[in-house]
Amino acid sequence: MGIVILNFRAKVSSRGEADQHLSKPGDAVLVNRGGPRWLVLSCPCGCGERFPVNLDPRSGPAWRIYNAEGGKMSVFPSVWRDTGCQSHYIIWRGRIYLFGSDNDAETDAGIALDDLLEPVSKRLSSAAWRSFVEVADDLGEIPWDVLEACRTLARKRVAEEGTGKLRSHFRLRSALGRTDKVDFTA
Ligand SMILES: [Zn+2]
Repeated sequence: MGIVILNFRAKVSSRGEADQHLSKPGDAVLVNRGGPRWLVLSCPCGCGERFPVNLDPRSGPAWRIYNAEGGKMSVFPSVWRDTGCQSHYIIWRGRIYLFGSDNDAETDAGIALDDLLEPVSKRLSSAAWRSFVEVADDLGEIPWDVLEACRTLARKRVAEEGTGKLRSHFRLRSALGRTDKVDFTA
């Protein structure tokens, strides 16, 4: 998975003002008019195209943005271009992770996961699968952070991830059920 640093160039009030700020792959401009409308990106793959990511639910399917006005923004869900270069990538804490042939490469967003493992585990149960997005909404956290926490809990065998349609859904391993005896620092 290739990584491109997101370079936040400007906040502007119309789409027409965005292009002048976009030159290098990963350059980003926020269009804000009474709220975030678009994130316009210079494609991180290097194809040279500029394209907008809709942030306004009133204008159709919209992406969520976290920490919009700084270099460390996150965007959820992933962006998948269905035209041009067809790039697929994740914007997470100021970095753009491009999916390529090596989708499962470890990411390193430098997040403080340890503080997230316990609250996340408390919102999982052994009785039902939960989407990491629901858990993120409960906690008011960035979904990519929560996904990483869920996968860490799965590696620690505290939780497990579903397969097929339940991919990205998690539950506590039934043998545990209770989480108060888990050593999260292990
Ligand atoms: Zn591209």
